[in-house]
Amino acid sequence: MMDTVIVGGGIVGLFTAYYLQKKGIKVTIIDKGNFTESCSTGNAGMIVPSHIVPLASPGMISKGIGWMFSSKSPFYIHPRLDKELIKWCYYFYKASNVSQVSKAVPVLKDFSLQSKALYLDFQTEHAQLDFSLQPKGLLMLYQSKAAEVEETAFASLAQKSGLNAEILSKEEAQKLEPNQELNIRGALYFPDDAHLDPAKLYGLLKTVLIDSGVRLIPETVVTGFEKWGRKVNKIISDKGSFTCNNLIICTGAWSGALAKNLGFTLPMIGGKGYSFLQPNLSNLKQATILTEAKVTQSPYADFVRFGGTMEISKPNTEINLNRVQGIFSSIQKYYPGLSVVFPEKKAIWSGIRPCSPDGMPYIGPAPGYDNVWVGAGHSMMGVSLAPATGKMLTDLLVGKKVDPVLHHMLFDVDRYNK
Ligand SMILES: Cc1cc2nc3c(=O)[nH]c(=O)nc-3n(C[C@H](O)[C@H](O)[C@H](O)COP(=O)(O)OP(=O)(O)OC[C@H]3O[C@@H](n4cnc5c(N)ncnc54)[C@H](O)[C@@H]3O)c2cc1C
Repeated sequence: MMDTVIVGGGIVGLFTAYYLQKKGIKVTIIDKGNFTESCSTGNAGMIVPSHIVPLASPGMISKGIGWMFSSKSPFYIHPRLDKELIKWCYYFYKASNVSQVSKAVPVLKDFSLQSKALYLDFQTEHAQLDFSLQPKGLLMLYQSKAAEVEETAFASLAQKSGLNAEILSKEEAQKLEPNQELNIRGALYFPDDAHLDPAKLYGLLKTVLIDSGVRLIPETVVTGFEKWGRKVNKIISDKGSFTCNNLIICTGAWSGALAKNLGFTLPMIGGKGYSFLQPNLSNLKQATILTEAKVTQSPYADFVRFGGTMEISKPNTEINLNRVQGIFSSIQKYYPGLSVVFPEKKAIWSGIRPCSPDGMPYIGPAPGYDNVWVGAGHSMMGVSLAPATGKMLTDLLVGKKVDPVLHHMLFDVDRYNK
C-alpha cells in the first residue's frame, strides 16, 4: 500500500504523523531540512489556551504602526512593494475587527483546551519521555496602568469565554515567583496554561515516530506535484519523485508557495522571532510574558529561554541584533536582580512563524482535491495547537466525524479562494 506523505516535518507535521500511525496508516514525512532545526525547536514552548485572541485584532493596526518606527520594537513589517505582502496586509486589516475576533475566541479556546488535554494524554502514554512539561500556568506581567486596563479587560473576556483567569497584585504574583524580585504593577494569571521544552519534545516525538515505523526523508525539497483528476499521485522533489495515496501539506511559512503550485491561494507570510538561553541561576519557576515588551520567558531546570519579536517578512533566518537587543534590554526592567549576559550571535536562535492574515490556522481538505490536506499557519500557537491539529487531520482523513464547532469555517483552507 502507498504511504500517506506529509511534506514538512515541523511540530505540526510530526503530531499529524503521530495520530495517523496510531490508526495503522503508513506515513512518510519529507523535509527540506534534517529534522533537527525549524521554527518548532527554539520557540518559547508555551501551551496557551489563554491565547484566544488572534494576532489580527482591533488595536493591532495602530499599535503596529507605532512599533514600526523603532528598530527594537516587538512587531515590524518590512515595507516593500511585494504583491503578496500587500494582499496579506489588506486581509490582515480586514480581519482586525470585533466581529471576526468574537467568532475566533470560542473556537480557539475549545481547540486549545483540546490540544492541551492531548499533551497530557501524550505525556501519560509516554511517561518515560521527559520533555519538561510544566502545567504551572502563565503569568502576564505588566508595569503600566494602561497595560493593567488592557489585561483586566482581557481577563474578563477570558472568564466570560469559560477560561480561568485572575488579576494578581504584585505581591500575589511574587508568591508564584519567590526567588527573584519582580518589578511590576501586577499580573494576569492563566492557571490552565503550561510550558514545555520544544527541542526536547521535538527530538522525543521524532524517536517515537521512527520506532513506530514512520519514514523520515531529510534534505529533500518538494518542488511540484503530478496530478490525476482530483488527486495528487506523485510528489516531485530535488531528489526524485514519491508516490502517495494522500498528501498533507505542513510546510509552515512556506505553505503558500506549495499551495500556489497546487493551484489554490493560501495567503501566508513569515513572522520571524528570536530566542536565546541564559542559565537559570535564580531558579525561576514560572513562565511569563513581559506584556509591554512582548517578550516571553520560559524557565527549565538548568536554563531560561527568552524570546520575542515578530518581523513580518519573506522566510529568512538572518539575525537582526537590534531586535535581539530589544528583547534583552526588557529583561532587567521586569527582573531587576536577574543577571543576564547578551548572547553571542551564534547562540541566538531565529524561527519563522507561519502567519495567516486572520491569525487562524488552515486545517482541512485542500480545494479541488480528494486526497490533499493542509495543516499550516498557526502563527504564535503552532506548538500549542499541534496535537489538536494532527488529531483533526487524522479524523478527517479516516472519515471520522469531527466536532462541527471545532472544524469551523474559520480554519477553512479554501477561505481566500471564495
Ligand atoms: C520566538 C518564537 C516563540 C514562539 N513561541 C511559541 C510558543 O510559546 N507556543 C507556541 O505554540 N508557538 C510558539 N511559536 C510558534 C511556533 O514555533 C510555530 O507556530 C510552529 O513551530 C510552526 O510549526 P509548523 O510545523 O507549522 O512549521 P515549521 O516548524 O516551520 O515546519 C515546517 C517544515 O516544513 C519544511 N518545508 C518547508 N517547505 C518545504 C518544501 N518545499 N519541501 C520540504 N520541506 C519543506 C521546513 O523545512 C520545516 O521543517 C513561537 C515562534 C517563535 C519564532
